[in-house]
Amino acid sequence: MTRRVVLATRNEHKVHELRQILAGLVDELDLEIVSAAEVDGPEVPETEVTFVGNAQLKAVALAEATGLPSVADDSGLAVEVLGGSPGVFSARWSGSHAGDGAPRADVDRANLSLLLEQVADVPDEHRAAAFVCAAVVAMPDGRVEAVEGRVEGAVVRAPRGTNGFGYDPVFVPTGDSRTLAEYTDVEKNEISHRGNAFRALEPVLRDLLRGEPTA
Ligand code: IMP
Repeated sequence: MTRRVVLATRNEHKVHELRQILAGLVDELDLEIVSAAEVDGPEVPETEVTFVGNAQLKAVALAEATGLPSVADDSGLAVEVLGGSPGVFSARWSGSHAGDGAPRADVDRANLSLLLEQVADVPDEHRAAAFVCAAVVAMPDGRVEAVEGRVEGAVVRAPRGTNGFGYDPVFVPTGDSRTLAEYTDVEKNEISHRGNAFRALEPVLRDLLRGEPTA
């Protein structure tokens, strides 16, 4: 019998991405991955100051509300000379948030411009940064497991590329000269923080779900 796993997001793009990355496990364990919107999951404010803390808040609340195994992620850009900022505040670094009503492209542009100003005087050799993603699975019986994915790189001086979102146009992964906004979606998934976190989640989910009663 098919078992449902809920992803704590209303973003269909993320659900699609998780389905692709976990395709093998979905077949093996006969899973169906659904979004929080499909099961009327709760909106959970991200009140913690770590990625894993926020992901855990969302996963646990969703598992409690639905009685289903639940997965949540939280991600952002950590710039070394800024002590890891914008970090968990990446989505609202310039003061507003796409969820508050402003168009996402405007918010993304404002966040990115502010960040570039803040590091304008930082020389190239000190512009290291990483995209970080924490993914947490919470089971209805209270078991919780967390994993983290990262991609290391640097913040460049001017945006380049039109693909992607957020800080993609100013982030160049180590060993490349292209920004993430110059990658295709497939190329980005292969190396991205979210791709790496969701891939790390696969064996964890397998262990947690094996032997679980079907619901
Ligand atoms: P969330 O985890 O979807 O809430 O993302 C938080 C914020 O981090 C986003 O609004 C972006 O500003 C930034 N961010 C997270 N992942 C990426 C990415 O893959 N590319 C660019 N920006 C990202």
